[in-house]
Amino acid sequence: MFNGTDKRYNQFSAHLKNKFGAKVYKITLDAGFSCPNRDGTISKGGCIFCDDGGSFSQAHSNLLSIEDQVKVGIKNLSERFKAEKFMSYFQAFSNTYKPVGELEKIYNASLCDERIIGLSIGTRPDCVDDDKLKLISGYKADYYTWIEYGLQSIHDRTLKKINRGHDFDCFLRAYEKTKEYGINVCVHVIFGLWENHDEIMQTAKKLAELKVDGVKIHQLCALENTKLADMYRAGEVDFMSEDDYIKTVCDFLEYLPPETTIHRLAGNGFSKTLIEPQWLGKKMDCLNKIDREFLSRGTYQGVKYL
Ligand code: SF4
Repeated sequence: MFNGTDKRYNQFSAHLKNKFGAKVYKITLDAGFSCPNRDGTISKGGCIFCDDGGSFSQAHSNLLSIEDQVKVGIKNLSERFKAEKFMSYFQAFSNTYKPVGELEKIYNASLCDERIIGLSIGTRPDCVDDDKLKLISGYKADYYTWIEYGLQSIHDRTLKKINRGHDFDCFLRAYEKTKEYGINVCVHVIFGLWENHDEIMQTAKKLAELKVDGVKIHQLCALENTKLADMYRAGEVDFMSEDDYIKTVCDFLEYLPPETTIHRLAGNGFSKTLIEPQWLGKKMDCLNKIDREFLSRGTYQGVKYL
């Protein structure tokens, strides 16, 4: 199947292991960024699902310097998993939302250990420009370099509903410019955004047409202290069942090119603040069920990709 594993999709972790000869662990970093969709530049509310951690972030340690976060991350992962290789991962908030000179210092600080082989930067498509992309593309020669764009859906109606503060055209412009600089792009999507199955598949087909390098899929979930939590309590949200999510994930992956790496298929790390759906708290169960669904269908990622 893919990367010498029994997975029926191109799992990013297996891809990294093949590429670098050892399992590669991401160190999630919090450099104290903000986001124009939260600080009032675009809007004050932010995306409806965004919590105080800047959307699903596990990095809450910005009291430490970047170098210290890296040191702590390497120490913990080495002790726990005997990890040998790492990627710096800027996850919390919008990690290109500072002047380019400051960004350079921050990214350089994260590459302070020779065991770091890659750099991944999560951000919004309206938070990049030529200077920033040029800076990031400069890391490519020595590091496996990625930008992760939150998109969530190609449908502008949906983007408006979740208060993204940008439309699909904005994403397309950023995507095309990022590819001009030769940077790998991972696109985040969310299922369960008041869209029917066909609309979700339209997002899959568009990402397939763009041949995006990577995809990260989440199920919409309500965390404490979010607008979505208020909407849920007001009876305005129905969450996908686990069964529906698993089938939709397999349908989605069937449309993607086999080369597209799959960075995540289920969220984790927020059980303390998770309100719904509760099944999301069991990530491994969900991943195992996705494997079984593919097996029972006899299909795999890319089977419908032309
Ligand atoms: S773009 Fe990210 S950090 Fe900004 S409001 Fe949306 S989810 Fe939160």
